[in-house]
Amino acid sequence: MKKEESAANMNDTGLTGGEARLRTAPEQAHEEEAPARHFHNEINELYPHEDSGRHLGNLLTDLGEKNLYDAAAQCNRCGYCETSCPTYMLTGRETISARGRNQFVRMLVEGREKNPAEAAESLSTCLLCGACTSACYAKVPTPDIVLEGRRALTGYGEGFFARAAVTGLLNAPRLFGFWLKLAYLAKKTGLPRLAARMGLYDFIGMPGLAEAESAVEHTPLRFAAEILRKDAALAPGGKGQVNWAYFAPCGPNYVFTETALATVSVLKRTSGEGIFIDNSCCGLMAHNYGRLEDAREFARRNIIRYEELKAEAGEFPMIADCSSCAAFMKSYEQLFTGDEAWRPRAKAFSAAVKDILEFIPPGKIAAGKPAAEKAGRVTYHDSCRACHGQGIRKEPRAVLQELAGKNYRELPESDWCCGGAGAFAFTQPELSNMVLDRKLRNIASVQADTVVVGATSCLAQIGAGLRKAYPAARAVHYSVFLNEAAGEGEKR
Ligand code: SF4
Ligand code: SF4
Repeated sequence: MKKEESAANMNDTGLTGGEARLRTAPEQAHEEEAPARHFHNEINELYPHEDSGRHLGNLLTDLGEKNLYDAAAQCNRCGYCETSCPTYMLTGRETISARGRNQFVRMLVEGREKNPAEAAESLSTCLLCGACTSACYAKVPTPDIVLEGRRALTGYGEGFFARAAVTGLLNAPRLFGFWLKLAYLAKKTGLPRLAARMGLYDFIGMPGLAEAESAVEHTPLRFAAEILRKDAALAPGGKGQVNWAYFAPCGPNYVFTETALATVSVLKRTSGEGIFIDNSCCGLMAHNYGRLEDAREFARRNIIRYEELKAEAGEFPMIADCSSCAAFMKSYEQLFTGDEAWRPRAKAFSAAVKDILEFIPPGKIAAGKPAAEKAGRVTYHDSCRACHGQGIRKEPRAVLQELAGKNYRELPESDWCCGGAGAFAFTQPELSNMVLDRKLRNIASVQADTVVVGATSCLAQIGAGLRKAYPAARAVHYSVFLNEAAGEGEKR
């Protein structure tokens, strides 16, 4: 990125030399004369807001419930978060920093944005990692603001892949599972590699899909839900009060089945009687890829399922083993701020959600010696939606340090994103690889043999990166590590 480009970008966002500045009167007059912009009308429906189905009502911020404009206006452009933002730090571009993004949204709402393409680039390159929010005194919810800005972009959420995946999961999950298994079979035959070599992914505008093919090493023949439904010990009927319920996020269910089975095994071993909730997708993918009404429908289905089980089994914590999904389910209330009937139900649901990273206290698992030897030097990567999204940092470390002992190594910049970020690795492959490269260097710097993670996209992204650049180390999910440490993994 060239310095001149950066300077030009800063001027467009009202920022110069890394500092905020007031506009001059001639500039303001010129802006007032500027013609209405591409997304002027749609985004201005939000202010004063009317929940259109495509947009959130209000955002729930640390400074109270705010409409989009007021939430974005909380950013005073101090720049305190700049050094926490991976996209800014790796490119030096002000327009792809948190304050640049907040400023773009603010200008879009005001109808003053002169360069919609530049705004679209700024919003689409955000990792939604939330590192800026953690660093910010006002806790400006930049990822939520960015998502609202994205949802205002014409055509956002209407792409073939977003539509096919979300509506398939929502309306025909069994058919979706069937197609997924066909895709897995195609992977085993090497067809995706052939498609990549023929340039088909570039042709359809998704060059990152070639990367997706290599991100997952093994694909399952049976999904986790299919196995867990047949486990009589997890059936809800006639049990009365239970100690936990397992919520299977899509990653562990459809791709990393061993993670889901390890989580259930660890829960059975440490926490007594439990059930499998047999849930729907949490709705995160729909939410992040512009299909908000679909996300609400996923949420409603899960809330209803939870309430039915609660009526039968009393209060129970609902354990999820993907931090992105757990964090999203803890924020369900925000989906329903304009809906008096669903809002309290969403809030009660969220209160029951727990990430497996925070659920198992130290002292519950005794490490088996062979598993400890296999793990070697162990380090922990903070998934963004665990540390920034849920404030979970100490809990998994306490357990891992106990299990790995002197072989535990603290990872430098452990709470920096790995570049996985849902489908970011596939939609923004170049930027994603830059972020991943920094993560891999940090892993190599502590000579780790095992990198423990808590989210599906980190598992895919770091796992694929290690296989290519540092094959001496492996990425494992926290539950798999705990299960192996307890000796269970060795026996299977
Ligand atoms: S997001 Fe917060 S820390 Fe970052 S520039 Fe805005 S006010 Fe400052
Ligand atoms: S969410 Fe992450 S990538 Fe996006 S502005 Fe904040 S720190 Fe930067």
